[in-house]
Amino acid sequence: MSGFVDEAQLHARAGDGGAGAVSFRREAHVSRGGPDGGDGGHGGDIWLVADLNQASLLGFKDHPFRRAADGAHGSGKRRHGRRGADLAVPVPVGTVVVDPDGAVLSDLSAPGDRWLAAEGGQGGRGNARFLSNTRRAPAFAEQGELGEERWLRLELKLVADVAVVGFPNAGKSTFVSSISSARPKIADYPFTTLQPHLGIVRVGRPGDETELVVADVPGLVEGAAEGRGLGHRFLRHTERARVLVVLVDLASATGTSAVEQLEIVLGELGRYDRHLLERPRLVVGSKVDVAGAHAGLDAELDLEISAVTGRGVEELVRRMAALVAVARAAKPDEAGSELAGAAAPTGDDAHPLGATPAGTGALVVHRPVPEGLLVERTAQHAWHVAGRDARRAVNFSDLTDDAALAEAVRRLRRLGVDRALVRAGAHDGDEVTVGLLSFTWFRDQAVELTEERGGARGARRRRGRDGR
Ligand code: GDP
Ligand code: MG
Repeated sequence: MSGFVDEAQLHARAGDGGAGAVSFRREAHVSRGGPDGGDGGHGGDIWLVADLNQASLLGFKDHPFRRAADGAHGSGKRRHGRRGADLAVPVPVGTVVVDPDGAVLSDLSAPGDRWLAAEGGQGGRGNARFLSNTRRAPAFAEQGELGEERWLRLELKLVADVAVVGFPNAGKSTFVSSISSARPKIADYPFTTLQPHLGIVRVGRPGDETELVVADVPGLVEGAAEGRGLGHRFLRHTERARVLVVLVDLASATGTSAVEQLEIVLGELGRYDRHLLERPRLVVGSKVDVAGAHAGLDAELDLEISAVTGRGVEELVRRMAALVAVARAAKPDEAGSELAGAAAPTGDDAHPLGATPAGTGALVVHRPVPEGLLVERTAQHAWHVAGRDARRAVNFSDLTDDAALAEAVRRLRRLGVDRALVRAGAHDGDEVTVGLLSFTWFRDQAVELTEERGGARGARRRRGRDGR
């Protein structure tokens, strides 16, 4: 079909994890009970889901932002915060997801295919988790992790659901533009460019909408099937349309009667490809507001419309949508149908979207978050340790707390930050930053720690190269 590519930007922002709580048990006869701060809930994920009721990316053009819910904070008595709800964003079947550098991340080719666009942040652990033999009263908890946030580009090769065919001046363009919410970028290809117009129509109430892509196929004239005139090129656009609308001009100025128009158009279609005659179709009389006599057509005519007064237009859209819905369900997508149901769902079964409902397509899951650590030099004697694991290792509610610091140091050691710094060429006394924590690093001694935003306590802890 045509080379029409619909494009949109999407900003996906997953939910933040809730913070773990710092809390101690309080009972009448216990002056200071053990730690009982609950964990924060995980933030919601954002999934893109291939949905047959979507036909274009129009919905993203005005509203590119999608946000999943945050996890709730933990609280005392070991109460855990609720998980933030996931957000399923419907996209048309055939949507390709591309990252800002142009790399293809996912191809949602079958109905029901889903892709994890942004992962929710993990909830922080409450202080109850940090109780140990040597640490009876941990006064710190983990912060929630921020949800993943990213820009994505969506691309979709538009496939016409409905092709509108008919004689020149039958009113095809007028009809398509009268029903279309397409932006000029898609819709406004003038006749002279020899491109069909594509219009996008939304039917139904918000939240339960179906989109149709309607192609206005110009230039169909007698002889088109033999390659005469413009028609031949445009008949190609009808090949993959699920439904045909034959528009006959009830007020034709050329003297070709409505009956003759219908015969000629069907003849052209059949000669080009006889399967086109088996395609579901509606025969529609146009310009009923100025119609002349059209005896002999009544039996064939499904509907009469006027794009000028609007008569019959809504009814036609409704009937087109109904036929398209039946056709989509019967033959969802040539490329995707083989895949449907082939792959078993993977991953977390408890996940509300983890299980693939019967009859939908393969589960497509990519893990977009880079794990582990990355050591980067930011200045001659300054280093930044990036990476999700490293960030999480120091993500505590109170880094001025000695026990929290000790825990952070232990985690960084275990992650191999020391080794990574040595390998990267760090020297004793260099400044190292991980998340909100910065410290002066020594290879062979205990790491000296300071909190980046620390007050008096942090300042006392800080020991510059000079003061050694
Ligand atoms: P196309 O060649 O099939 O795309 O036809 P157009 O949409 O360009 O319409 C051809 C002419 O018919 C234009 O002058 C339109 O204004 C006119 N026209 C289209 N629809 C109607 C209609 O419903 N009523 C009337 N009176 N004129 C119409
Ligand atoms: Mg036209």
